[in-house]
Amino acid sequence: MQIKRLRIAGFKSFVDPADLRIEPGLTGVVGPNGCGKSNLLEALRWTMGENSARSLRGAGMEDVIFAGTATRPPRAFAEVSILLDTGDAANPDEREVVRRIERGAGSAYRIDGRDVRAKDVALLFADAATGAHSPALVSQNRIGAVIAAKPAERRAMLEEAAGIAGLHVRRKDAEQKLRATEANLLRLDELIAEQDVRAAALRRQARAADRYRALSEQIRVAEGRMIFARWRDAVAAADAARAEAQAAEAQVAAATA
Ligand code: ATP
Repeated sequence: MQIKRLRIAGFKSFVDPADLRIEPGLTGVVGPNGCGKSNLLEALRWTMGENSARSLRGAGMEDVIFAGTATRPPRAFAEVSILLDTGDAANPDEREVVRRIERGAGSAYRIDGRDVRAKDVALLFADAATGAHSPALVSQNRIGAVIAAKPAERRAMLEEAAGIAGLHVRRKDAEQKLRATEANLLRLDELIAEQDVRAAALRRQARAADRYRALSEQIRVAEGRMIFARWRDAVAAADAARAEAQAAEAQVAAATA
């Protein structure tokens, strides 16, 4: 990975937008004390994801926003963009990483114009064996610390030089995902148990509905039979009454004659 350009606006002493082009080879930044040389390196580390305000020589993260001078008012936001080439000479692959902070609104990242998480930016740099905490970035007064590094810190430097820092970040990421998945599985078990209880209640209700349907059918058939029997009795009674009437009529006729 090669950093090709650093664009700074409103960050620390860089109140006006400024471009620092980093050409192939060695780049030196020279200037009088307090002109902002260290601020350049801090802008780089901040955009790579540095979240410790103290390591950026501030009390809070908003201290990186231009605080104003006797002649210029403070700024409401700071924005730093890093133009990278993650490819090689034959296949250049330019990416632009931007971090922006606004007073009272926190900071946000973009890669190639798309909003991304801090983790995505950390991974991009970790894959290229660099990042905000890379031992390759030596802040002011930190040379002594590099020399007196503890074995674990030295190991981090060696791992970074070997290009496996990205693997550590991915492993941490994978472990986090695994923990989240385990928690999800646990929750799913609980949901399945709840659903089992509901299914048992529904099975009971379905059995009751089946019985209700069968009994209703029996009642319908029994009522049909009863109506038929009543109809048959009524027809028989009507026949008998008709025969009686005819006999009476015959008697009346005989008596009349
Ligand atoms: P040295 O050579 O002494 O190490 P340097 O060139 O590295 O100095 P820096 O330490 O990068 O300089 O810059 C310090 C300057 O940045 C100081 O003048 C300080 O006032 C200014 N500065 C830091 N933070 C802010 C801010 N939030 N707003 C305005 N100016 C700031």
